[in-house]
Amino acid sequence: MPEQLPLFSRYPVLGSRLPHVSLGSLPTPVREFTEIGAGNDCRLFFKDDGLSGDLYGGNKVRKLEFLLGEALRRKSAEVITYGYAGSNHALATALYAQRCGLDCTLMLMPQLNAEYVRRNLLRDYAAGAKIEHYPSASAMYWPTFRRLVTGRVRKGKSPFIVPAGGSSPLGAVGCVNAAFELKGQIEAGDLPEPDLLYVAFGTMGTAAGLAVGLTAAGLKTRIVAVRVVDARWANMKKFGKLVKGTVDYLRSIDPSFPSSDRAGAAVTERTGFFGGEYARFTDEGISAGRLFRQSQGVELDGTYTAKAMAALLADLGGGKGAGKDLLFWNTCNARDFSEKIAPVDYRDLPSPFHRYFRTETQRA
Ligand SMILES: *Cc1c(COP(=O)(O)O)cnc(C)c1O
Repeated sequence: MPEQLPLFSRYPVLGSRLPHVSLGSLPTPVREFTEIGAGNDCRLFFKDDGLSGDLYGGNKVRKLEFLLGEALRRKSAEVITYGYAGSNHALATALYAQRCGLDCTLMLMPQLNAEYVRRNLLRDYAAGAKIEHYPSASAMYWPTFRRLVTGRVRKGKSPFIVPAGGSSPLGAVGCVNAAFELKGQIEAGDLPEPDLLYVAFGTMGTAAGLAVGLTAAGLKTRIVAVRVVDARWANMKKFGKLVKGTVDYLRSIDPSFPSSDRAGAAVTERTGFFGGEYARFTDEGISAGRLFRQSQGVELDGTYTAKAMAALLADLGGGKGAGKDLLFWNTCNARDFSEKIAPVDYRDLPSPFHRYFRTETQRA
């Protein structure tokens, strides 16, 4: 019997009514980087969602517990989701859908090449996902519609759509729970109540869920959301809607959940670490990655966590961390899956994906 989620202990009505399937290894550990903290007159902690699942970690596992829970509740046979070619979200969905006995289709768009793109594509394939290439997000619209209709006609049921990045109010609930999990760890003395929480800002479900959860849990922690995607996809206007949608959704199920209109205000967006293009590795990100690999044995990824860490390091360098307790939220998988991809030949993937294996990858 998996441990009860802290959100459900606090709000049992949510526990009895929300769709949920236990996939993660929760709570995830917290560690302290004492040397870096001491050198900057602060304390620096690391919430390691890299270990959030035994199959594959990262922030997407938290969202999928609710999204796949809903797919199972609807008795869907198949899920569809979207992303860039090397999407961690697409891979997490493929892996955990397979664990739940669901077929999975991934609709993927082109992106800059990197070593992790190769690994994730091979793992998507090994997980039995159907992988499809589309030139853009808009090109996925009609094929999705067609799948919904043919699923209904042929099998009596449409596939369940998992939103890009898992970021809908339902998916964000997984990160509301993460904030309650953090509160439990603060109460247990694992870390002090952080002044600032640094996290990558992509499809925004993580920051939105955390903002709602921190506020509801009565924590004073402010979120520093480091944008790593184009401003079209992540911006404060959309973020406000997602926060409100998440609160409204939870209150529609349990009206005792607080209507925290302050949640959005607990977040500051940072735009200076993006590097102009999704998955373009930046110099600041590369040096942040090198520092943590060499001094702490921690791997950051160039697309998300290295950019978020670069923002944190810049703040430390500017003296902004002095006297504060900082928390970095590691959102990237840390489970090794080399064995699973070793037998896979990239030529078995659909041909539009072969180029990732034949062209150079970015230097990390
Ligand atoms: C998806 C992802 C993020 C971004 O989370 P959002 O909820 O989409 O903002 C951050 N880090 C990693 C490694 C991710 O895969």
